[in-house]
Amino acid sequence: SLSDRLTGALKDLRGKGRLSEADIDATAREIRLALLEADVALPVVRAFISRVKERAKGAEVSEALNPAQQVVKIVDAELTAILGGEARRIEFAKQPPTVIMLAGLQGAGKTTLAGKLAYWLKGQGHTPLLVACDLQRPGAVDQLRIVGERAGVQTFAPHPGTSVGGDGAEIGVQEPVSVAQRGLAHARAKMHDVVIVDTAGRLGIDEEMMAQARGIRDAVQPHETFFVLDAMIGQDAVVTAEAFREGVGFTGVVLTKLDGDARGGAALSVRELTGTPIMFASDGEKLEDFDVFHPERMSSRILGMGDVLSLIEQAETVFDAKEAEKTAAKIGSGELTLEDFLDQMMMIRKMGPIGNLLGMLPGGKDMKDAVGDIDEKHLDRIQAIIRGMTPEERADPKIINGSRRQRIANGSGVTVTDVNQLVDRFFEARKMMSRMAGQMGMPGAGRKNQ
Ligand code: GDP
Ligand code: MG
Repeated sequence: SLSDRLTGALKDLRGKGRLSEADIDATAREIRLALLEADVALPVVRAFISRVKERAKGAEVSEALNPAQQVVKIVDAELTAILGGEARRIEFAKQPPTVIMLAGLQGAGKTTLAGKLAYWLKGQGHTPLLVACDLQRPGAVDQLRIVGERAGVQTFAPHPGTSVGGDGAEIGVQEPVSVAQRGLAHARAKMHDVVIVDTAGRLGIDEEMMAQARGIRDAVQPHETFFVLDAMIGQDAVVTAEAFREGVGFTGVVLTKLDGDARGGAALSVRELTGTPIMFASDGEKLEDFDVFHPERMSSRILGMGDVLSLIEQAETVFDAKEAEKTAAKIGSGELTLEDFLDQMMMIRKMGPIGNLLGMLPGGKDMKDAVGDIDEKHLDRIQAIIRGMTPEERADPKIINGSRRQRIANGSGVTVTDVNQLVDRFFEARKMMSRMAGQMGMPGAGRKNQ
């Protein structure tokens, strides 16, 4: 598999300095294969690989990852960025109802999606109405009605007998357009704030179907038109998407059948070539098998290297663990410096909202106590104070005498009291942490308690 190839062949290539061109090329070849295997369209693969190579060239060699893993990581980040670029939510009309039209080939999952979308919107307090404009296929109207009942929303359908049944031959060309118009009027009258228009599809691209979809579009002026795409369709996705873009136009893409074994290259191709965001994803037949689109999941799926990505995470964790070990030893021996303290703090801050994270670190609780109330401004100040110290002062805070304190305070825009407090708390925390480390049997503990 790809992951074997990547982890096997390149395992020992742990270089120094910048990633070498040879490393990048070797990995890029594998990525290229993975993308093609995932049914990403060739021009998209080409453009993508050349972008990734550009980006990888400038990258520093990581201490934690081998070059192959590093390139994969860049690829993953780039893929995620492209797939999620300009991600957006449904644009609701200022004047309700918001009209959402669904377009796509037969079997793509439009009718199923209509129910899912309605259910999802209802959960957010909207009052959607389904409108059955697929009069092509026998049973299509009933299918929508059933889906609507499951979702607990109303369905507007042509009256029984006038259009349902038969093979569609007796249905007038204007009938779906008329249903769409009447459905919209009904929604206005009954105060539905969203209208979801289900339309007919054919097995292949077909000018008559496009004309009908255009007719519906012109009649209801949708705020959003979603192109519904079966993720299993593979390379055909590009042609189909292009035909729908020209034929009716769309504002968003919905991927369906992601529960299947498709690698999902269609997602990348369609996103790249049409520039339209992927908004939702369907992964099953049930109403709840539906979510907003998650680019990072799609990225690992396309690369088919969930295992490689988790390997990378492991490599990074091991690396972090080594650092943590060093820190732990220093804590144990009471040699923790303000530099370490600053490092740890920066690390924690990178991880996001700080309050709940501090407690998870080794010694984090003590640090939390030392830092005092966890508020970001306070942390900014602590950071400023430590930054205002010389390396010698950070490494050996005991040398920070009165005049040094004054200098640090002036340099970092705080009072001498602030500096005193930080230094005092730091000493206290260091003592406490060292004692605790001793109790926990951590390395180096109790060697140099102060
Ligand atoms: P439409 O012709 O575009 O309206 O497609 P339908 O909504 O009728 O769906 C066609 C078939 O695909 C139905 O059997 C659905 O149950 C099934 N389907 C739709 N979406 C999904 C999905 O996300 N996963 C799976 N497994 N099946 C789906
Ligand atoms: Mg349908």
